[in-house]
Amino acid sequence: MIMAHKRHGSNHHEMELASGKLHLFANEEVFQSFGVKVYEMANNNLQIPRNQYMSYTPDAHVGIGTCIGTTAVWNMKDGCVSPSIVGSDIGCGMRVHTTPLHKRDIQDKEIRRALIAAIEKYVPTNERTNTNYEDIDVMSVVQNGLKGLPAKYVPDEQWLSHVEQSNFAYDHSYLKNLPPKIMKYARGQLGTLGSGNHFIEIQYLEIQAEYADLAAKWGLFDGQVVVMIHSGSRSWGGMVGREHNKVIKEAMNHWGVSNPDPNLIYAPITSQEGQTYLNLMYSALNFAVSNRHMIAFGVREAFQELFGADMEMPVLYDLMHNYALKEFHRNQPMLVHRKGATRALPPGHFLNTQVYKETGHPALIPGSMGTSSYIMVGKDEGLKNFYSICHGAGRARSRKATKELVTVDQFEQSLKVGTEDEILVNHRSLETILDECPQAYKDVDQIIDSVVGASLAAVVARCKPMAAIKG
Ligand code: 5GP
Ligand code: MN
Ligand code: MN
Repeated sequence: MIMAHKRHGSNHHEMELASGKLHLFANEEVFQSFGVKVYEMANNNLQIPRNQYMSYTPDAHVGIGTCIGTTAVWNMKDGCVSPSIVGSDIGCGMRVHTTPLHKRDIQDKEIRRALIAAIEKYVPTNERTNTNYEDIDVMSVVQNGLKGLPAKYVPDEQWLSHVEQSNFAYDHSYLKNLPPKIMKYARGQLGTLGSGNHFIEIQYLEIQAEYADLAAKWGLFDGQVVVMIHSGSRSWGGMVGREHNKVIKEAMNHWGVSNPDPNLIYAPITSQEGQTYLNLMYSALNFAVSNRHMIAFGVREAFQELFGADMEMPVLYDLMHNYALKEFHRNQPMLVHRKGATRALPPGHFLNTQVYKETGHPALIPGSMGTSSYIMVGKDEGLKNFYSICHGAGRARSRKATKELVTVDQFEQSLKVGTEDEILVNHRSLETILDECPQAYKDVDQIIDSVVGASLAAVVARCKPMAAIKG
């Protein structure tokens, strides 16, 4: 399968596979852990015509059609778009809000339990709908992103400017391709978390000494309490994917295009099918960013209930890890797919949001409910990977294998249950979320070491979990 293997400096591997070139960013330990399946998937993905670049970040692991942890780039002119390399939860991403609180202000477990209860009141954590926001027009949100939200849900302008993108413009007439029942499911889902690995986590920061100045510029301080949110486009994005994947699959049959993996689907960007997918994908990105905004709005209500109505909770940043974005690189417009990969732009890069143009933006990387998560910043050298870094630790084993391997006792130990520093969880029984234990994921410190060693990004702060809310 691997025909040649070149190393470029630290942690950057270039692998020649039968169908093309794969770049891989990993330290020695992570590199050795990759099984043959991830290379097979890359080899299938590299058969998509006219690929310009494909890589894995160190959190890469097997997904449907394409590994999670893939960055793949095509030219806008004659390239392809692949829903398999966007992922099923279109627009899934991360968001962090800061608070003025210090770790010691919420060290008391009773306070943290009260916070969890208050958050659950405002943010339904399971499949239930959120009845608090019945005045939101879902159609306006999928068309206009954050600009489609009623003004009363936008605490201040900062909530619109500190995001990777607040709205995605597209041709709304493509929405007629979606089945009418999509509205029935989507209504009431804004501001809901969803199940599985989606979470709201209360964390405190440990600032890296070398980046203290940058942290201060971003409004961060040592010991600061922050809230990290992970969610996506709920059933809106799910349905866009399911409905439209069928259409592309039929078109591929019609065109006589085949791939060893029937789950890997793609279309030329300029084809009718490609254009329809891209336009509908934008509607899901609008839903996703608005969903995280509304979750954060609920979290703020909960904090204000406990700490006073004047407590501010500014957005640090909101960014996505499942999308295909048109970006200008190497003097031409490219379609950059990131499936389980995070953009980390360096200081001064023109693609940065205005507020982060000078410093580069915070790249938000979750770990697990029992380990550190990270706030990073991109480096100029990230250009070699189209400024993509990891999107988390990445799953190390399936849900089933995790349940077989890890005991509830071990899970409790990793959450320091019974100690002062216990990481509190909303679920009464850990058994029900055993497949989400830290042991289900790769060692996040190794993943971050891989990224830092490859000079793709640097660590600004570690985020230590204090309370986790899972769907
Ligand atoms: P994905 O987007 O692939 O569903 O998951 C992103 C990443 O989130 C995972 O690879 C994992 O590292 C991280 N993650 C999953 N659950 C939790 C959690 O409860 N807390 C934190 N901090 N990270 C998590
Ligand atoms: Mn998701
Ligand atoms: Mn995700």
